[in-house]
Amino acid sequence: MKSRFLICLTVFSFILFASCNNNPKANNDKVNTPKAADSAATSAASPTTASVPDNAKKNSVAEIYAKPQIPILCYHRIADGRKDEYSVSPSTFLSHLDALKNNGYHSVSPDQLYNYLVYNQPLPEKPFMITFDDSRIEHFEIAGPELKKRGFTGAFFIMTITYNKKNYMSTEQIAQMAKDGHTIGLHSWDHTMASKYTTPEDWKKQVEDPKKKLEDIIGKKVDYWAYPNGVYNHAAAEGLSKYFKISFILTSKRDTLQPLQTVRRMIIPTMSPERLLKSIEGWK
Ligand SMILES: [Zn+2]
Repeated sequence: MKSRFLICLTVFSFILFASCNNNPKANNDKVNTPKAADSAATSAASPTTASVPDNAKKNSVAEIYAKPQIPILCYHRIADGRKDEYSVSPSTFLSHLDALKNNGYHSVSPDQLYNYLVYNQPLPEKPFMITFDDSRIEHFEIAGPELKKRGFTGAFFIMTITYNKKNYMSTEQIAQMAKDGHTIGLHSWDHTMASKYTTPEDWKKQVEDPKKKLEDIIGKKVDYWAYPNGVYNHAAAEGLSKYFKISFILTSKRDTLQPLQTVRRMIIPTMSPERLLKSIEGWK
């Protein structure tokens, strides 16, 4: 028993270092005390689903690949005092949200993106998506309420080994995020890269079991995946297509045969709101 406990502890310590945040000095900085969610928020969160007509024609793989991509932002940590590309300070993060809001951008959900790519459903004017990887507590304490205040929704990708661990969202918090209109997606069990899933046991451990458990927690289907470290290969993309409507990579090349399983996102490090807007305008 003791050795099993030690193995669990070792595995968990490892994933703390191996997560998207590759900074080996990963520490347990507590983020600023969150502001209470603004119950007087004036704008409701955007709808996360749009109905598709029954007779809608499905695009071919080539048509999906050729659709103009929309800018998809990817955040990890929201904390002061960190200088890596996986972190932004809370004040920078809020300045990004304000810039997007004040410049007429509209957040879209993964469901809306899927219906756009597959069924040519319209998107709002100036669409963008905002996503968060690694289940950090500040996603619940800062990102969720601040998005809601501005009428935005986000997509949060959970590595499920972090359930109820210090500095990570609890299962109740994850469920609350789903209730608040955000999309909850999967980011593997322990952040092992999808290119390494070779046996049925790997797929069960990293995809099937955590997907089921996450669905039980939020009471909804989990249809979206973000690749740990953004890394994929063709076999992984094909495998994931059996479980997810869309899988998100980072800025690597897309797979022409699996465009839905290789949707690109840009990591947003600390940058001025002006530069963020320029990156979004130039996104292809
Ligand atoms: Zn990650």
